[in-house]
Amino acid sequence: MEKQLRLLNVRYGLATNSSSSHSLIFLRPGEQLGDKDIWGDGYGWNHFLLASKEEKLKYLAAQVYQAFEELHPDLRVAVVRAILDDASLEVDPNNYIDHQSTWSFPRAFGKKYVDADFIREVIASVRRNGVVIAGGNDDEAPTWKKKYDNRWYPRMLTETANNQIVCRNDGNGQWVVFNKDNGNKLRFSVVEMLSNDHKNDGWISSGDASNHHSPAPELVDLKITDYCPYDCPFCYQTSTRSGVHGESRNIYAIISALAEMKVFEIAFGGGEPTLHPKFGEFLQYAYRQDIVANFTTRNLAWLSEKDNHYLDYAGAFAYSVDEPSGVEALVQALDKRDISHHRANVHVVMGAQPIETFRNILAKAREFTLRVTLLGYKMAGRGGEFTPFDYSTWLETATDLQKSDQCPTLSIDTLLAKEYEARISQVLPDWMYHTVDGRHSAYIDAISMKIAPDSYSGEAGQGLGESRDYSGSIRKAFSEWQTGLKR
Ligand code: SF4
Repeated sequence: MEKQLRLLNVRYGLATNSSSSHSLIFLRPGEQLGDKDIWGDGYGWNHFLLASKEEKLKYLAAQVYQAFEELHPDLRVAVVRAILDDASLEVDPNNYIDHQSTWSFPRAFGKKYVDADFIREVIASVRRNGVVIAGGNDDEAPTWKKKYDNRWYPRMLTETANNQIVCRNDGNGQWVVFNKDNGNKLRFSVVEMLSNDHKNDGWISSGDASNHHSPAPELVDLKITDYCPYDCPFCYQTSTRSGVHGESRNIYAIISALAEMKVFEIAFGGGEPTLHPKFGEFLQYAYRQDIVANFTTRNLAWLSEKDNHYLDYAGAFAYSVDEPSGVEALVQALDKRDISHHRANVHVVMGAQPIETFRNILAKAREFTLRVTLLGYKMAGRGGEFTPFDYSTWLETATDLQKSDQCPTLSIDTLLAKEYEARISQVLPDWMYHTVDGRHSAYIDAISMKIAPDSYSGEAGQGLGESRDYSGSIRKAFSEWQTGLKR
């Protein structure tokens, strides 16, 4: 049975173009290329279109050969033959692929080397009929480019070097690929292709991503303290100045369990996580386990400490603001230490400020090229005692700002996506957003030692148990709530 790739979900954008453009084109059922191989000299800037099994195999061999450049040439040939399952395959070491179109095959999680199983599965799906490999460049478009332009392979695998792409095999042909540099995440499945499969539309799945269950979360929101000095009246965590910190040994054990499960990211939160006395050590510990650690804070004091190393070990951090001056304070603190604005994200709780103030926050963030995440208003904790400002016109406000180029890059959380799903679905395909937490993520409270699909819906959560090996209880809780989830 032939295998087919299906894209299930993408988080964040796909990469931009580069000079040479090598792509995979997934033909629709019954669609004919109408041409045999169009072949030039090597796989550089020239235009080529590889349709036959033989020519595709030569190209794939060249890609795999380049992926193992640290090995001795003889060993590289052996590896290519093993991966392509052809012991007598002729591998031409001089088969050059332009450096801008070389695939960066992902590393196995926690390891230094590329994941051979990933390469095998993806390559098997490319070798099947109905997939062609196309080459060209940005300067002159070949005639076939226009016809297939909407089916270019997402450039994610060619955009990053330095071993920053990792992958996880979720079983049943499902893979998740995560770019640690920019946070792009791609979930896809390699499924058996049925001859009467009329759903096939290139590589974009028309199937429902919510039918695909993972054995473990990709992201865990980890509450490490209930202490917070900021007294926000709408705080859904009800954190206070008398809140307690999570026990360090529990937090280390949770991070170890998440690494064992190949969880890509931890979002440290609280309370105010930067005020946990061991916060810096937790960041380092996660970093050393190949996990990207991010955090949410309302505190900027650590940024002005000269010897603070949080950002040496963290991916990015979110700073919560409720007025434009908060954005200015963040920019000042970043610029003082010469830290790129891309390391920070502005968080805005919808309803925590009047809509005019919301508008001014967005415009200010745009002015300083800061990304903004909008968080739906949560009724849990003190959130239920505070009357939020009306934010029902937020979409119009953002659209207005966009017209005058004053709108920053925006993300929204699942709660806001759910609240405004009817309107959002008119402008975005469903694989670009979620309206349910817990599908690929989990919330762990390291103070109460409980796990739940999210932090705000009032679910009491399940206890992590007495044993310090928490991976079993995390997997169990995660898999139990999967069956009840709807998109
Ligand atoms: S909302 Fe955040 S910053 Fe405000 S009190 Fe709660 S934990 Fe502290």
